[in-house]
This record gives sequence, structure tokens and C-alpha cells, in this order.
Amino acid sequence: MARNNLLSTDMENQLYIYNTLDRKKEVFEPINPPHVGMYVCGPTVYSDVHLGNCRTFISFDLIYRYLLHLGYKVRYVRNITDAGHLEGDNDEGDDKFAKKAKLEQLEPMEIVQKYTLGFHEILRIFNTLPPSIEPTATGHIMEQIEMIKEIIANGYAYEIDGTVYFDVEKYSQTCNYGILTNRKLEDLLEGTRELGGQDEKRGRLDFALWIKAKPETLMQWHSPWGWGFPGWHIECSAMSTKYLGTTFDIHGGGMDLQATHHTNEIAQSEACNHTAPAKYWVHTNMLTVNGARMSKTAGNGFLPKELFTGNHPLLERGYSPMTVRFFMAQSHYRSTLDFSNEALQAAEKGYKKLMESLSTLEKIIPSETSSVSIAALHDNCYTAMNDDFNSPVLISHLFEAVRIINSANDGNETLTANDLEILKSLVRTFVFDVLGLIDETKAAGANGNAISGLMDLINDIRKTARANKDWATSDKIRNELTALGFEIKDTKDGFEWKLNK
Ligand SMILES: [Zn+2]
Repeated sequence: MARNNLLSTDMENQLYIYNTLDRKKEVFEPINPPHVGMYVCGPTVYSDVHLGNCRTFISFDLIYRYLLHLGYKVRYVRNITDAGHLEGDNDEGDDKFAKKAKLEQLEPMEIVQKYTLGFHEILRIFNTLPPSIEPTATGHIMEQIEMIKEIIANGYAYEIDGTVYFDVEKYSQTCNYGILTNRKLEDLLEGTRELGGQDEKRGRLDFALWIKAKPETLMQWHSPWGWGFPGWHIECSAMSTKYLGTTFDIHGGGMDLQATHHTNEIAQSEACNHTAPAKYWVHTNMLTVNGARMSKTAGNGFLPKELFTGNHPLLERGYSPMTVRFFMAQSHYRSTLDFSNEALQAAEKGYKKLMESLSTLEKIIPSETSSVSIAALHDNCYTAMNDDFNSPVLISHLFEAVRIINSANDGNETLTANDLEILKSLVRTFVFDVLGLIDETKAAGANGNAISGLMDLINDIRKTARANKDWATSDKIRNELTALGFEIKDTKDGFEWKLNK
């Protein structure tokens, strides 16, 4: 269902996005419509992707899908951090890749390859669309060096013994360093420790753009300041500028990136390009488990695969990828999302109910008149998504659609042929294209199609058997399918089936 109101000025149809920069919802007005540039900070690939990261990328997948649905031509850039991310986010400690490489006795790029593949696999299981461009930090060392040179030339960075620091105090004379978190420089300084004798940087808030390599540093590159490697923040500024321009529409990431990573990204881009990098800053909230923040140290940070298999002390059993995706969509991306067995089981029921209604929808016989307003339902779905991608409200309207579908099938509501077509298109569009769900009950992909075809064939054979009053064959088919895990329900048209997992 393509939507044609992209250029409409009708307020009801306008998309509003919550902009972290201004701390309010704003009308979305792309810089160069119908094109939209969106940059999302991707994973640091030194370990398995955790569920909190998955939530961020699934949230941006929903945003990406809805923008595409509205007719925007989106260039979605999501990077892979494969160098330069130190243990502490403040330029301290070992390089994460080098540390892991020593532990696992692998080359740093083996670590990168292993976890990049794992990351892609998990996001594929969650049915997220791949970004338009997925640039890596190691593939853009030259761009980062060029950007650092420009920042130095503009007077906002300085070199000390092979390491280059961004000069936050100098920057703050003309720009607002705490713009994203709405904090004054004095407050930020207060929250930072005093510089000690061994610190070489000038200001407490200064951060590294380029870091001098030690002889044993595994990944290092030649630069105007000697051998070294880039600081973590510069890669996103360099790559977003390269692929989306000096100013683009949407910059996103997890809420935990606001205070340091994104604050420094803005400063770097302003200091280099003399313009703010993004018009709208979008941040996704955290995950909690039974009310407590999810973290590895707390022992409640399960991995996606543990969630699917149920192989974790906090999980009563496994939950399917689509149950988890549906569960995440039931919560707004800016709210915290609490994982519990009860909530996941409720989501599983809701997801199955939604999928079943899509099959029921095919069986409804149209009437002369409609007893319900499908136009109102249509508008409600768009209004929900236009209100800062409010997926939980959208889902509540989809459950109103489920009620209408079941009532119409039972003969308690009526729908005209035209309304029925609109309803089918509306529900399929929002369930599959926008929410990104797949009907797991019928299995996904080529295998799923093959199973569907096979079941149609078996249905036909059984119908012939029943027409010939060959009850033995009819019962045998039913019993054997049930034994294989299919749930079979006799109908006037043969049977309906469901694969119980
Ligand atoms: Zn980033």
C-alpha cells in the first residue's frame, strides 16, 4: 500500500519526530525531500551483540521501514566499529579488539570478522532490513586523518607527542558543547576528575581524535602525527560526512551514547565543517530485566540466542524471534522496555492472535454494507506512527482490526468488498512492511512456501478421500500430520493447519 500524501500539508498527516536537541516533538521536514539521510551508530564488533543493541537496531529498522513506506528515498548508513574503541569510553585502557585478540589468540581482524558475521545473522533472524551502506572504521582511516587535520587547521585540536586532542574549552568559546544533553560547560567540568600529573591533555573534557600507538599495539596506521589509531568518536563524524554530507536529516543511536559519543561527534563535525551534522537526533531507550538494568555484570544480560532457546537461568523457556520483535514493538522506542517471562508470554499470545487474524481475513465473505468504519481505523494507524513512530498505539489499533476481522468472520460485523480490500491491505502493510513481522506459524522463506504448497496438496488428496467416503485415508492423514506437530482443524473447505513449535 503506497501512500501518496508525502507532500501533503495536512497537519494530521505530518510525521512528528522527538528531537533530542530540542527535547520536543517536531514536524519532520527533510533537508532535500524526498531524500532522507539517516546515520545510526552501529556495533563495536568485539563480542556477541547483546539484546540492548538489538533493540536499538530493531527500533531504527521500524523508523527506516516507516520512512520508506511514506515514500521517502532513504540512505541509511550504519557503521561497524572495528578499531579505536577503547575499554573506557574516555580514551583509557586497552583497545577492545586487541584485548579480545590476546584472549582468544586471534588476529584482531579475525575477531572483527567473527562478530560482524554474528551480528548480521542475529539481525537477519529479527528480519531487519540491511542498511544502504555499512562502512567500517578501518576502511576509513584516511577520511578520519583528513578530518583531524582540518580540525587542527581550524584551531580546535592540538597534538602532544603523537596524540591529538580536541580542545573543548576553545570550542566552547563559540559553540555549545553540552547542546545535546542540555548541560552547561561548568556542570560538565564539575563532573570530571581533575587532571593529574601524568595527564598530557590541556583540558579535563578534551578527548582524543588520534592516539599514539605503543610498539605492541596490534592495529596501527601511519599518520602526520606518527603511528597510531583513531579515537572512537571521529569515525562516525568522518563516515557520516562522507556518505550523507556535512548536514543530514537523522542521526540515531542508543541513549547511552548521548553524553559522550554523540556530544563529541557534534563538536568534531562543527569544528571541521562549521555546521551542525544532523537536524534530528533520535535516541532509543534501554532494556531492563525484571525491573533492573540489563548488564553482563548483574548476570541478567542474556544474548539473543539464549532468549530464543530459553537457555538462561532467568528464562522459563525460549521465545521465537518474532515474539521478541513483537514484544519490542509493544513498547515505544523512547521508553524503557522490561523483559520478564510473563511479558514475553503475553507478547507471544498477542503475536499469534495477530497472525491468526490474517488467515481469518481471507475467509470473510463481503456484505452489501459495512457496520464498522475502516477509514477511521486507517487514519488511526497512520496517526499513531506519525506521532514519533508510536508502535504500541499502532498495535492497539491493529488489535481493533483483529476484533473487526473475528467479528466479521462470525457474522457479527459486516464489511463491503471495498472495505474488505482496504482492511487486508492496511493490516498486511502495517504488520509485515512497517512492524517487520513474519508469519512464523507458516514457517519463513522458501521452506515455508514449500510447506504451504505441500499442505495444499495433502488437503486436496484428503478432500478427494472424503468425497469418496474413504474415511480411513482421511483419518490417517489427519493423525499423521498431528503426530508431526501440525494442528489440524476441519473446515467445510478441507482443513486449516498450524505448525506448533
Ligand atoms: Zn557513532
